[in-house]
Amino acid sequence: MVHETGYYDLLGVDAKASPDEIKKAYRKLALKYHPDKNPSEGERFKLISQAYEVLSDPKKRDLYDQGGEQAIKEGGMSGGGSPTDIFNMFFGGGGRMQRERRGKNVVHQLSVTLEEMYNGGTRKLGLQKNVICEKCEGYGGKKGALEKCSSCKGRGVQIKVQQIGPGMIQQIQSMCADCQGQGEKFNSKDRCKTCNGHKVERTKKILEVHIDKGMKDGQRITFHGEGDQEPGLEPGDVIIVLDQKEHPVFQRQEDNLIMKMDIKLVEALCGFKKPILTLDSRTLIISTQPGEVVKNNDIKCVQSEGMPIYREPYDKGQLFVQFQVEFPENQWLPEHLMYQLERLLPTRDEIMVSDDMEEVTLTEVDSQSQQRDHSREAYEEDDEGPRQGVQCQTQ
Ligand SMILES: [Zn+2]
Ligand SMILES: [Zn+2]
Repeated sequence: MVHETGYYDLLGVDAKASPDEIKKAYRKLALKYHPDKNPSEGERFKLISQAYEVLSDPKKRDLYDQGGEQAIKEGGMSGGGSPTDIFNMFFGGGGRMQRERRGKNVVHQLSVTLEEMYNGGTRKLGLQKNVICEKCEGYGGKKGALEKCSSCKGRGVQIKVQQIGPGMIQQIQSMCADCQGQGEKFNSKDRCKTCNGHKVERTKKILEVHIDKGMKDGQRITFHGEGDQEPGLEPGDVIIVLDQKEHPVFQRQEDNLIMKMDIKLVEALCGFKKPILTLDSRTLIISTQPGEVVKNNDIKCVQSEGMPIYREPYDKGQLFVQFQVEFPENQWLPEHLMYQLERLLPTRDEIMVSDDMEEVTLTEVDSQSQQRDHSREAYEEDDEGPRQGVQCQTQ
């Protein structure tokens, strides 16, 4: 039984969510609230990461379900990884060793349709990124013209001394704004005009993302070295994470596709031929033989009409069709014809009604009126407030 649902609420999932659903929810939210994209949502990002850290670990999730956040804290299970570490682990960012010599990886989510994953395709994605200024080759100005910053005397920091009370002074150290903490700067005539001394320029880059047949929701496509450029650093990667949109007809389960199909009672009993429009716009005809009975919720399958297998696109999974049998409406058949139908159907079991049995009326269930009754009861109980209050106290 689940007492506390705060972590589930943070990820926007049900308390019975599967590990996959939890992963998917974290993926969406972490990308949305990552400080790179949403600098003002740092706290939210941290909470999401904490929730994921607990719920993605079966032991911790168990503990949380039993005793809530308190149990996690008492068990010394919280605060394992920093939000960024959790994020990098999840999206396969560079390890610690790499991070020092390399720029950051940038993760983007790309929304794709099931048709694109079935047929494959190319999508163009425009990204803003920093590239090293060509004019000054990332130097920031004329070679050899760097001068010691006069504001900070080359230290890169400025120290302000403030008197905050009698005999008490406070030193405030801050990065030198004139040289951006470099300790050196160009005077205005030597500074590169193209990048204004920033060494890099912001440019738009178009990435072509190839979606291969059979790629899956959450699959990563990595563009090595396409991250922001910075002098002296190897650029990080751009990582594209595929996010599959819901499809109105097909649901995907690994390499299989699942769909629901409505059939009429006559089709369920006497056979049918029905079309299915595939994700590559072919029309398949499925049929049953006369005499073959399809029951409500029966599942049948078509071999090799599921999703193409990633990297083996000539192989495909299966297509499952779940049938929903539509029964006719009340009074669809005049009563005097009923006997004809009955003659054709399998015979019914007769029961003998004796005097000691009680015949009762069967009515439609009206869930709305039931709810009304229920709330009226609650209201009436409230009316008897004072007496109830006394009862509660004595309990
Ligand atoms: Zn300075
Ligand atoms: Zn420049």
